Amino acid sequence: MTATAVSAPSRAAELLLAERFGPTLQGEGPSIGQSALFIRLSRCNLSCTWCDTPYTWDSARFDLRQQSERTSVADLVAWALAHPVPLIVITGGEPLLQQRHLPALAEPLLQAGRRLEIETNGTVAPDSALLLAGLRFNVSPKLANAGVPADRRIKSAALEALSASGKAVFKFVARDAADLADLAELAERFAMRQVWVMPEGVTADDVLGCAQALAETVIARGWSLSLRLHVLLWGD
Ligand code: SF4
Repeated sequence: MTATAVSAPSRAAELLLAERFGPTLQGEGPSIGQSALFIRLSRCNLSCTWCDTPYTWDSARFDLRQQSERTSVADLVAWALAHPVPLIVITGGEPLLQQRHLPALAEPLLQAGRRLEIETNGTVAPDSALLLAGLRFNVSPKLANAGVPADRRIKSAALEALSASGKAVFKFVARDAADLADLAELAERFAMRQVWVMPEGVTADDVLGCAQALAETVIARGWSLSLRLHVLLWGD
Protein backbone atom coordinates (compact mmCIF):
# COMPACT_ATOMS: atom_id res chain seq x y z
CA MET A 1 0.00 0.00 0.00
CA THR A 2 1.29 3.44 -0.86
CA ALA A 3 0.54 6.68 0.99
CA THR A 4 -0.93 8.97 -1.66
CA ALA A 5 -3.33 11.88 -1.54
CA VAL A 6 -6.90 10.57 -1.47
CA SER A 7 -9.77 12.47 -3.04
CA ALA A 8 -12.80 12.83 -0.74
CA PRO A 9 -16.02 11.16 -1.94
CA SER A 10 -19.16 13.23 -2.43
CA ARG A 11 -21.02 13.78 0.84
CA ALA A 12 -24.31 13.01 -0.91
CA ALA A 13 -23.32 9.52 -2.00
CA GLU A 14 -24.99 6.84 0.09
CA LEU A 15 -25.24 3.07 -0.13
CA LEU A 16 -27.79 0.72 1.40
CA LEU A 17 -25.51 -1.30 3.67
CA ALA A 18 -26.34 -4.67 5.24
CA GLU A 19 -23.10 -5.05 7.20
CA ARG A 20 -19.37 -4.42 7.22
CA PHE A 21 -16.84 -6.70 8.82
CA GLY A 22 -13.19 -7.58 9.04
CA PRO A 23 -10.34 -7.80 8.95
CA THR A 24 -10.92 -11.44 8.10
CA LEU A 25 -9.82 -13.77 5.29
CA GLN A 26 -11.17 -13.91 1.76
CA GLY A 27 -12.67 -17.38 1.85
CA GLU A 28 -12.72 -18.43 -1.80
CA GLY A 29 -11.57 -17.74 -5.32
CA PRO A 30 -8.25 -16.37 -6.58
CA SER A 31 -7.61 -14.33 -3.41
CA ILE A 32 -8.38 -17.16 -0.99
CA GLY A 33 -6.57 -16.73 2.30
CA GLN A 34 -5.77 -13.04 1.85
CA SER A 35 -6.63 -10.61 4.64
CA ALA A 36 -9.63 -8.55 3.63
CA LEU A 37 -12.40 -6.22 4.72
CA PHE A 38 -15.95 -6.91 3.59
CA ILE A 39 -18.63 -4.37 2.74
CA ARG A 40 -21.95 -6.13 2.22
CA LEU A 41 -24.61 -4.13 0.40
CA SER A 42 -28.31 -4.82 0.78
CA ARG A 43 -30.88 -5.99 -1.82
CA CYS A 44 -30.67 -8.59 -4.56
CA ASN A 45 -32.52 -9.21 -7.81
CA LEU A 46 -32.44 -13.02 -7.41
CA SER A 47 -33.83 -15.39 -4.78
CA CYS A 48 -31.58 -18.44 -4.71
CA THR A 49 -32.98 -21.28 -2.62
CA TRP A 50 -29.65 -21.87 -0.84
CA CYS A 51 -28.77 -18.18 -0.35
CA ASP A 52 -26.72 -17.66 2.82
CA THR A 53 -27.50 -13.93 3.03
CA PRO A 54 -31.32 -13.80 2.70
CA TYR A 55 -31.38 -10.91 5.17
CA THR A 56 -30.15 -8.71 2.32
CA TRP A 57 -33.22 -9.28 0.11
CA ASP A 58 -35.95 -11.59 1.49
CA SER A 59 -38.70 -9.25 2.65
CA ALA A 60 -41.01 -12.21 3.36
CA ARG A 61 -38.69 -13.43 6.15
CA PHE A 62 -36.87 -10.27 7.23
CA ASP A 63 -37.68 -6.63 7.89
CA LEU A 64 -35.24 -5.17 5.37
CA ARG A 65 -35.52 -1.73 6.98
CA GLN A 66 -34.09 -3.23 10.17
CA GLN A 67 -31.51 -5.26 8.26
CA SER A 68 -30.00 -2.37 6.31
CA GLU A 69 -28.88 1.16 6.83
CA ARG A 70 -28.28 4.06 4.47
CA THR A 71 -24.58 4.71 4.95
CA SER A 72 -22.50 7.46 3.44
CA VAL A 73 -19.73 6.49 1.08
CA ALA A 74 -17.45 8.83 3.04
CA ASP A 75 -18.11 6.78 6.20
CA LEU A 76 -17.26 3.52 4.42
CA VAL A 77 -14.09 4.95 2.91
CA ALA A 78 -12.94 6.22 6.32
CA TRP A 79 -13.71 2.84 7.92
CA ALA A 80 -11.79 0.93 5.26
CA LEU A 81 -8.78 3.24 5.35
CA ALA A 82 -8.58 2.89 9.13
CA HIS A 83 -7.58 -0.76 8.64
CA PRO A 84 -4.19 -1.58 7.07
CA VAL A 85 -5.68 -4.36 4.96
CA PRO A 86 -4.72 -4.67 1.27
CA LEU A 87 -7.98 -6.15 -0.04
CA ILE A 88 -11.51 -4.80 0.20
CA VAL A 89 -14.40 -6.97 -0.97
CA ILE A 90 -17.72 -5.38 -1.89
CA THR A 91 -20.39 -8.04 -1.76
CA GLY A 92 -24.10 -8.47 -1.24
CA GLY A 93 -26.85 -9.11 -2.03
CA GLU A 94 -26.15 -7.81 -5.48
CA PRO A 95 -23.85 -4.76 -5.21
CA LEU A 96 -24.19 -3.70 -8.83
CA LEU A 97 -27.82 -2.73 -8.15
CA GLN A 98 -26.21 0.28 -6.40
CA GLN A 99 -23.35 0.79 -8.82
CA ARG A 100 -24.12 4.48 -9.33
CA HIS A 101 -22.23 5.26 -6.12
CA LEU A 102 -19.58 2.55 -6.31
CA PRO A 103 -16.97 4.62 -8.19
CA ALA A 104 -17.09 7.13 -5.32
CA LEU A 105 -16.30 4.29 -2.93
CA ALA A 106 -13.74 2.56 -5.14
CA GLU A 107 -11.65 5.48 -6.37
CA PRO A 108 -10.29 6.74 -3.02
CA LEU A 109 -9.55 3.19 -1.86
CA LEU A 110 -7.68 2.39 -5.07
CA GLN A 111 -5.79 5.68 -4.83
CA ALA A 112 -4.72 4.59 -1.35
CA GLY A 113 -3.21 1.44 -2.81
CA ARG A 114 -5.94 -1.02 -1.86
CA ARG A 115 -7.22 -3.73 -4.20
CA LEU A 116 -10.96 -4.12 -4.67
CA GLU A 117 -13.10 -7.10 -5.55
CA ILE A 118 -16.78 -6.70 -6.37
CA GLU A 119 -18.76 -9.91 -5.99
CA THR A 120 -21.70 -10.04 -8.37
CA ASN A 121 -24.22 -12.58 -9.64
CA GLY A 122 -23.54 -11.46 -13.22
CA THR A 123 -27.01 -10.16 -14.04
CA VAL A 124 -26.07 -6.46 -14.17
CA ALA A 125 -23.55 -5.03 -16.62
CA PRO A 126 -20.98 -2.76 -14.95
CA ASP A 127 -20.91 0.91 -15.92
CA SER A 128 -17.75 2.03 -17.71
CA ALA A 129 -17.03 4.30 -14.71
CA LEU A 130 -16.48 1.17 -12.64
CA LEU A 131 -13.88 -0.42 -14.90
CA LEU A 132 -11.03 0.86 -12.76
CA ALA A 133 -7.44 -0.36 -12.53
CA GLY A 134 -6.98 -2.46 -9.40
CA LEU A 135 -10.64 -3.52 -9.33
CA ARG A 136 -11.80 -7.03 -10.20
CA PHE A 137 -15.23 -8.58 -10.52
CA ASN A 138 -15.78 -11.97 -8.91
CA VAL A 139 -18.75 -13.09 -10.99
CA SER A 140 -20.92 -15.94 -9.70
CA PRO A 141 -23.60 -16.70 -12.29
CA LYS A 142 -26.17 -18.96 -10.71
CA LEU A 143 -26.60 -22.51 -12.01
CA ALA A 144 -29.90 -24.39 -12.23
CA ASN A 145 -29.30 -25.62 -8.65
CA ALA A 146 -30.19 -22.11 -7.40
CA GLY A 147 -33.86 -22.73 -8.14
CA VAL A 148 -34.25 -19.49 -10.09
CA PRO A 149 -35.65 -19.53 -13.67
CA ALA A 150 -32.91 -19.29 -16.30
CA ASP A 151 -34.29 -16.08 -17.80
CA ARG A 152 -33.82 -14.34 -14.44
CA ARG A 153 -30.39 -15.67 -13.51
CA ILE A 154 -28.65 -15.64 -16.92
CA LYS A 155 -28.48 -12.19 -18.52
CA SER A 156 -26.49 -12.47 -21.72
CA ALA A 157 -25.67 -8.78 -22.15
CA ALA A 158 -24.32 -8.48 -18.61
CA LEU A 159 -22.25 -11.68 -18.80
CA GLU A 160 -20.85 -10.70 -22.19
CA ALA A 161 -19.88 -7.25 -20.84
CA LEU A 162 -18.23 -8.74 -17.75
CA SER A 163 -16.38 -11.36 -19.78
CA ALA A 164 -15.19 -8.78 -22.32
CA SER A 165 -14.05 -6.38 -19.59
CA GLY A 166 -10.96 -8.45 -18.90
CA LYS A 167 -11.57 -7.71 -15.21
CA ALA A 168 -13.69 -10.73 -14.32
CA VAL A 169 -13.10 -14.14 -12.85
CA PHE A 170 -16.03 -16.53 -12.67
CA LYS A 171 -16.86 -18.54 -9.56
CA PHE A 172 -19.40 -21.32 -9.25
CA VAL A 173 -20.62 -23.30 -6.28
CA ALA A 174 -21.00 -26.86 -7.55
CA ARG A 175 -21.85 -30.20 -5.98
CA ASP A 176 -22.00 -32.82 -8.73
CA ALA A 177 -21.51 -33.71 -12.39
CA ALA A 178 -24.80 -32.08 -13.39
CA ASP A 179 -23.60 -28.76 -11.96
CA LEU A 180 -20.30 -29.04 -13.83
CA ALA A 181 -22.11 -29.78 -17.10
CA ASP A 182 -24.32 -26.71 -16.54
CA LEU A 183 -21.19 -24.69 -15.75
CA ALA A 184 -19.34 -25.92 -18.85
CA GLU A 185 -22.17 -24.78 -21.11
CA LEU A 186 -22.11 -21.29 -19.59
CA ALA A 187 -18.31 -21.07 -19.65
CA GLU A 188 -18.21 -21.87 -23.34
CA ARG A 189 -21.16 -19.65 -24.27
CA PHE A 190 -19.74 -16.58 -22.55
CA ALA A 191 -16.02 -17.18 -23.24
CA MET A 192 -15.18 -17.34 -19.54
CA ARG A 193 -11.40 -17.54 -19.33
CA GLN A 194 -10.86 -17.86 -15.58
CA VAL A 195 -13.25 -20.30 -13.93
CA TRP A 196 -13.10 -21.25 -10.26
CA VAL A 197 -15.17 -24.11 -8.89
CA MET A 198 -16.09 -24.02 -5.21
CA PRO A 199 -17.28 -27.32 -3.74
CA GLU A 200 -20.59 -27.11 -1.91
CA GLY A 201 -20.77 -28.14 1.72
CA VAL A 202 -21.60 -26.89 5.20
CA THR A 203 -18.91 -28.85 7.04
CA ALA A 204 -15.21 -29.38 6.34
CA ASP A 205 -15.87 -33.05 5.55
CA ASP A 206 -18.63 -32.07 3.08
CA VAL A 207 -16.39 -29.58 1.31
CA LEU A 208 -13.43 -31.95 1.06
CA GLY A 209 -15.59 -34.86 -0.11
CA CYS A 210 -17.24 -32.70 -2.75
CA ALA A 211 -13.83 -31.34 -3.84
CA GLN A 212 -12.52 -34.86 -4.34
CA ALA A 213 -15.55 -35.73 -6.47
CA LEU A 214 -15.16 -32.64 -8.67
CA ALA A 215 -11.36 -32.42 -8.98
CA GLU A 216 -10.89 -34.68 -12.00
CA THR A 217 -13.33 -32.74 -14.17
CA VAL A 218 -11.96 -29.40 -12.97
CA ILE A 219 -8.45 -30.43 -14.05
CA ALA A 220 -9.65 -31.84 -17.39
CA ARG A 221 -11.43 -28.56 -18.18
CA GLY A 222 -8.50 -26.36 -17.19
CA TRP A 223 -10.49 -24.67 -14.43
CA SER A 224 -9.34 -23.97 -10.87
CA LEU A 225 -10.62 -25.47 -7.63
CA SER A 226 -11.08 -23.29 -4.58
CA LEU A 227 -11.90 -24.79 -1.22
CA ARG A 228 -14.21 -22.63 0.85
CA LEU A 229 -11.85 -21.55 3.60
CA HIS A 230 -14.45 -20.05 5.91
CA VAL A 231 -16.26 -23.41 6.08
CA LEU A 232 -13.00 -25.25 6.77
CA LEU A 233 -11.87 -22.79 9.45
CA TRP A 234 -15.07 -21.61 11.06
CA GLY A 235 -17.88 -23.83 9.79
CA ASP A 236 -19.91 -21.09 8.10
FE1 SF4 B 1 -28.35 -14.71 -2.41
FE2 SF4 B 1 -26.37 -14.18 -4.12
FE3 SF4 B 1 -28.53 -15.54 -4.95
FE4 SF4 B 1 -28.72 -12.93 -4.38
S1 SF4 B 1 -27.53 -13.87 -6.02
S2 SF4 B 1 -30.16 -14.53 -3.72
S3 SF4 B 1 -27.30 -12.75 -2.63
S4 SF4 B 1 -27.01 -16.20 -3.42
